[in-house]
Amino acid sequence: MTNVPELFGTLVFNDKVMKERLPKETYTALKQTVESGASLDPALANTIAAVMKDWAIEHGATHYTHWFQPMTGITAEKHDSFISPNGDGTVIMNFSGKELIHGEPDASSFPSGGLRSTFEARGYTAWDPSSYAFIKDSALCIPTAFISYSGQVLDKKTPLLRSMRAISKQAVRVLHALGETAVSRVNATVGAEQEYFLIDKSLWKKRKDLIFTGRTLFGARPPKGQELEDHYFGNIRPRVIAFMDDLDRELWKLGVLAKTRHNEVAPAQHELAPIFAEVNVATDHNQLTMEVMKKIADRHDLVCLLHEKPFAGVNGSGKHNNWSISADTGSNLLDPGKTPETNTRFLLFLTAILKAVDEHQDLLRLSVASAGNDHRLGANEAPPAIISVFLGDELTGILESMQSGKTYAGKKSSKMQVAESIPAFMSDTTDRNRTSPFAFTGNKFEFRSLGSTFNIACPNVMLNTAVADVLAEFADRLTAAADPAKEALKIVTETYAAHKRIVFNGNNYSDEWVKEAEKRGLLNLKTTPEALPYYSRPENLAMFARHGVYTGEEIKAREEILLENYCKVINIEALTMIDMAGKQIIPACIRYMASLASAAAAKQALGFDAPTEKDLLQRIDEYTRAAHAALARLSDGTVQVKGIEGNAKQAAAYHDVVFAAMRELRAACDVLETLVPEDVWPMPTYAELLFSV
Ligand code: ADP
Ligand code: MG
Repeated sequence: MTNVPELFGTLVFNDKVMKERLPKETYTALKQTVESGASLDPALANTIAAVMKDWAIEHGATHYTHWFQPMTGITAEKHDSFISPNGDGTVIMNFSGKELIHGEPDASSFPSGGLRSTFEARGYTAWDPSSYAFIKDSALCIPTAFISYSGQVLDKKTPLLRSMRAISKQAVRVLHALGETAVSRVNATVGAEQEYFLIDKSLWKKRKDLIFTGRTLFGARPPKGQELEDHYFGNIRPRVIAFMDDLDRELWKLGVLAKTRHNEVAPAQHELAPIFAEVNVATDHNQLTMEVMKKIADRHDLVCLLHEKPFAGVNGSGKHNNWSISADTGSNLLDPGKTPETNTRFLLFLTAILKAVDEHQDLLRLSVASAGNDHRLGANEAPPAIISVFLGDELTGILESMQSGKTYAGKKSSKMQVAESIPAFMSDTTDRNRTSPFAFTGNKFEFRSLGSTFNIACPNVMLNTAVADVLAEFADRLTAAADPAKEALKIVTETYAAHKRIVFNGNNYSDEWVKEAEKRGLLNLKTTPEALPYYSRPENLAMFARHGVYTGEEIKAREEILLENYCKVINIEALTMIDMAGKQIIPACIRYMASLASAAAAKQALGFDAPTEKDLLQRIDEYTRAAHAALARLSDGTVQVKGIEGNAKQAAAYHDVVFAAMRELRAACDVLETLVPEDVWPMPTYAELLFSV
């Protein structure tokens, strides 16, 4: 039995610990600093550091590290022990305020997109006191931002914090203009649902593709996939439940609000959802969740696959970014209340979001672009590459009637009584739409296009900034208006009329929608190389600059880093395929053909015919030749694209040339897998990988 409340947060230097252990004035000053977003008085840092160190040592820590989120997408840490020599051969444990608030890791080996030249290798990390320090692997981890020597952002955290400030500032202006002057801060909140696969470690070890790329690059469809729909919410097998129990416990210790766990659609696929938190904390916690998932899986002789598309033919994994904004007075600004048609504040924020999404479709799209996620977006399992908003019938009906000047006479929630013994409940006024990339789900928006490996910071930077930008414009109008309440309604009606093309309540997977979206002039950026160059569209550059989120240089750097990353990922996948096809698959087929040939010859020597052997031999020969030829094209392709100048051009070529050749090679090899015996095939099959845990 676990006492969860007692276990929860035991490895976190949280508010409760600070209140108990810090001198009262220090605690109050720190709280004020966090709440106002001002920088910390260095005099306080020494006191906090000393208290933190004692607490950490009591909890088994020997080291500390600044914990940051460089552009690799994963977290980075460099441990320093607390030891300090006494001069007599002994040590004491030391941790100064300076060490707490400021670090200088060598930045030269992190992607910088040209922001940092090697002669300025220094980067700075700076404590983010708005996210609690915690203990992991005997190290006190201090969440930090990471910037270059000259102050440019090198990480995912800094722009997120800046975007949070931007949306808070503009939302507060709007609320003040509407008379809600008690509000002093507005927080973006996020709950990130995380999908993942679990497979057996011993099988994983036998697949170079899983080891090097996180996904299978070959694999014929197993006899059974997800067609019986028997895995989603199915009962959870013992080995998986043992993993989940362990995972929840570790996450709870780290203060992560792990809440929901269940089987997902594909065999071997599962999901974890936390209770939402402020977006910077939600980001840190999602990074921790992914890391802990991998670690705990290993402990159970499993491997947790976070790749967006580990297996062809069954669903891939995504991450649902549930996003809302709430005032520090406690109210969720996206809560429609019982009568949304009279809730001006709600309608104002809602239409601000519609406009933001419509005007910056490209940013939302590119914030979810990656080589891995290209396998999902646009396929019939994940939202399409076209960004649109699902509002549902009720909200759409309200906005439509406002636009046409009528009063709303729509559907109301009704009482549902399904059987006498079952308590009655009120039906929702809108159904769910599981095909929409950006769906209103009652009191929040669910951005469903994120890939499972993603750091959620970037999509939220886009959302926060784009919405802040519209709110700024709304606030200007409201403050200038003689009658702000009346002006608000006018803004709602006008904004909806101007941006209703972004609203789509139908089936996003249908071909009709692709055509309809084109007619509406919505973007359809199908691949990562197509999407990323939109980062530096002049309107986007201007918007980020207006809100102090990114400079033009910083955006250009990000664009370059992401394009480069795409090229690198495809290149690694191509080289892995070349290796597996050339050293494992084709040789295995040749060996098997030899044994077929000798079997046929032996039979013929005895006067038998050998039609089966010959037929098999012929078919295997045909596909082996096809594989061999595709392998050669792929090898040539990887060499050819290497020399292309410019990341955008090179990324496009990696897609058009290398990725296309990878597909051909896979197609031939997947047929070969179905033609040769199990004991000849040189790696575990989909059936084994997906159904053995
Ligand atoms: P689903 O059916 O998609 O699982 P849930 O209602 O369970 O929907 O919520 C999914 C996620 O949304 C959870 O992580 C939850 O904490 C989060 N969520 C709920 N309210 C908010 C909010 N106001 N802001 C951000 N996230 C929220
Ligand atoms: Mg969901």
